[in-house]
Amino acid sequence: MNKIAVLSLVILLVAGMVLALPEQANPKADKGPIEKITFIHYKKGHAKPPWAGGGNDKSKVTCYAFLSKGAKWKTTENFLINPTNSQGLSESLIVNSTNAGINEWDSEVTFDVFGTGSVDYTASYNNGDYDGINTLSFGDINKLGAIGVTTVWGYFSGKPSTRELLEWDMLLDEVDFDWGNNDANKMDVQNIITHELGHSAGMSDLYEAGCNDETMYGYSNEGETSKRDLNSGDIEGIQKLYK
Ligand SMILES: [Zn+2]
Repeated sequence: MNKIAVLSLVILLVAGMVLALPEQANPKADKGPIEKITFIHYKKGHAKPPWAGGGNDKSKVTCYAFLSKGAKWKTTENFLINPTNSQGLSESLIVNSTNAGINEWDSEVTFDVFGTGSVDYTASYNNGDYDGINTLSFGDINKLGAIGVTTVWGYFSGKPSTRELLEWDMLLDEVDFDWGNNDANKMDVQNIITHELGHSAGMSDLYEAGCNDETMYGYSNEGETSKRDLNSGDIEGIQKLYK
């Protein structure tokens, strides 16, 4: 190769790198701001939350919905469990119930949506800005009929391919409800946690009567354990999100 040919090749390579740079930088810029969304899980009989909508096409009921199309975990993150205020339920019951709920979602997809949970008696529900710490704890939700609440942070409004979940915080109301393990008179801790973990994974609530067998159905009652196991719509949804 003569000198001119080598020089031309170098110029072409450098030009190619310079041209490629803006394209590589753009996806980050397209993500938009970090946003948060809060899902409140009500006892049956309470009013539909404002985000429930009502414009669903009844002719093609799909029993799954996403927080935001394409918004999913792209890196697996660990989380903290604080069993304080769990009304005497043992630490191991809370941890085992959480792990059972996680396994329901994770076992349907190849990606590890959830990492490992560690008990941390200082972990608390994040009511403010994104802090990157995923938590599960018990406390008081100041809304009538609210059993549990999960707030999820992430990039929700750019192109679906750039959307991403970044944090979740779950709070279970131990002031207004009694919590138990397969107890007809109490809110079932595994049942509610499995539903709330669906939000943590990127799923939204369902309010159509025909979807009341789904884990992501928007209401629960004392003694209910049907949400411990995913239903066909939950499985279809999580597989579509993490395909
Ligand atoms: Zn919910």
